[in-house]
Amino acid sequence: MKILVPVKRVVDYNIRVRVKADGTGVETNGLKMSMNPFDEIAVEEAVRLKEKGIATEVVVVSIGEPKAQDTLRTAMAMGADRGILLTTDNSPEPLAVAKLLKEIVARETPDLVILGKQAIDDDMNATGQMLAGLLGWPQGTFASKLEQIDGRLQVSREIDGGTETVSLALPAIITADLRLNEPRYASLPNIMKAKKKPLETMEAASLGVDIAPRLTVVSVAEPAERKAGITVGSVAELVEKLRNEAKVI
Ligand code: AMP
Repeated sequence: MKILVPVKRVVDYNIRVRVKADGTGVETNGLKMSMNPFDEIAVEEAVRLKEKGIATEVVVVSIGEPKAQDTLRTAMAMGADRGILLTTDNSPEPLAVAKLLKEIVARETPDLVILGKQAIDDDMNATGQMLAGLLGWPQGTFASKLEQIDGRLQVSREIDGGTETVSLALPAIITADLRLNEPRYASLPNIMKAKKKPLETMEAASLGVDIAPRLTVVSVAEPAERKAGITVGSVAELVEKLRNEAKVI
């Protein structure tokens, strides 16, 4: 089984992002960038399938600015075999990413594509579903457990109020949820080894896909500041404030 894992370079999840003064987006200049956390989970799952002897090759692909090669190297240090970087001038929308991934799928013919359930920068949660739609492949989104049974994939999905289990014929699309696994840290020797793994770079434009933006960002704003709390002297005072000030009881 060959597995393709798309990984996105995003602002590190520990960084508190700030909205640009003109409200057109968030500041990314000079900020620490990392692999999207859900994509780390997707890479980990693919590498585990390889370690179990189920997968034969794990290929990682990233679409974005040339620096995304660092993200691919991280994925290779975790155990992916090789990387593909599709360079673009700006960050493409999910539909454009899905169309580009469809082209990569046509070239690489993987049996399984494991994406993150969402990229934490734009929170779109759309690319995996769109790719499944474009390819006409079955999809198991929000996966929290993955097993291969009789040549099919059994996927436990996180849904409101519980877990749903679906059985998918290959080739298929999976999107990884938080509970699927705990990604490993890349060891120093593996980081060194990853530098020698193959990394192919090409311009996204060379794939002949229309990746023009369809969305216009109208404005980006900081969430409203939370008001400072107060300390009440007694339960009676708390009840009085909840009833007469907050009017919630
Ligand atoms: P999104 O639909 O933008 O929330 O992203 C969902 C998933 O699609 C991510 O977790 C990645 O696996 C993949 N993805 C989105 N954008 C990119 C990109 N520019 N390069 C590689 N993979 C991406």
